[in-house]
Amino acid sequence: MNFERITHPAPTSPAAREEAIANPGFGTVFSDHMVTIGYDEAKGGWHSAQLGPRQPIPLDPAASVLHYAQEIFEGMKAYRHPDGSLALFRPEANARRFNESAKRMAMPELPEELFLESLRQLLAVDGEWMPTVEGGSIYLRPFMFASEAFLGVRPAKQYKFIVIASPAGSYFKGGAKPVKIWVSRNYTRAAPGGTGAAKTGGNYAASLVPQAEGIANGCDQVVFLDAVEKKWIEELGGMNLFFVFDDGTVVTPPLTGTILPGITRDSLIQLLRSEGLQLREEPYSIDQWRADATTGKLVETMACGTAAVVTPVGTVVGPDGEFTIGSGGTGQLTHKMREALVGIQRGERDDPHSWVQKI
Ligand code: PMP
Repeated sequence: MNFERITHPAPTSPAAREEAIANPGFGTVFSDHMVTIGYDEAKGGWHSAQLGPRQPIPLDPAASVLHYAQEIFEGMKAYRHPDGSLALFRPEANARRFNESAKRMAMPELPEELFLESLRQLLAVDGEWMPTVEGGSIYLRPFMFASEAFLGVRPAKQYKFIVIASPAGSYFKGGAKPVKIWVSRNYTRAAPGGTGAAKTGGNYAASLVPQAEGIANGCDQVVFLDAVEKKWIEELGGMNLFFVFDDGTVVTPPLTGTILPGITRDSLIQLLRSEGLQLREEPYSIDQWRADATTGKLVETMACGTAAVVTPVGTVVGPDGEFTIGSGGTGQLTHKMREALVGIQRGERDDPHSWVQKI
């Protein structure tokens, strides 16, 4: 598909951009352009790909997304490599997950190549939004929503796919600092047969109240338990979990449809296995977590995701009080895995799995 390109004039002055990328924070500053592709069943599918200025999108008040939340998204980062090039980390995995989410939400799939080409088109014009701070990146947010004006409850016949970009600050900023986790007992995130494995807005809307509860109790993040027995550990609001034991084995909850299949999770599994560690995907209970942390059998807990790569869990606040993981600091394996993954993403280490794609 050919992209119509409307790339002038850039709305941000070079001075304003310089200021923005010197101190980007997360998710509040955006680059100058966006990619838009329409979908219309009556027109035979995807049409009108455009790279244009970033601007508000016209939307009918009856658009299905505003009523029934037919919406999906992805989150990924572009990095500046030491040779000056821009690179993405496993973008085809995001493209595949996007289509898995689309299927679950009764939305049309987007050809993987079109997803990838959209990222390339946007980065080609907005690469200069790369933060100048060490450890910065450009966060890419591809998303799709039902734009058809129709109030009946059925899959829409019209959609919009959009990609926007936002400079993101250093992952060091509190990034490797151990996080304090709140165990959500009153709320669950996803039920069997529900949408937990899809990256769809409703899952995140549902996590806001438990997240606020965690923050009110002095925690940084929430860990969700399974919705049936309220016993098995699932994941954090935006990260997957790995449990490290004193005999060198590592356990992570299995993909049974209620957690998001994280791309960092999959990468860590491969890295741990290539390190010769025993990695098992199996259920692990909240009571066992507490017991193993208390006896010292469990030595580390890693939280992982695109945003903070690999972060140690320091303390857990549950209904029976707090417990600490290891010494409450950053464990050896957590540190090693973080360095390994960050090194590959930033082009500072060998990439034996060919995960990095240069733009
Ligand atoms: N779980 C949830 C609920 C998430 O939102 C994310 C972030 N996408 C993750 C896990 C981690 O996934 P990834 O490693 O692909 O960023």
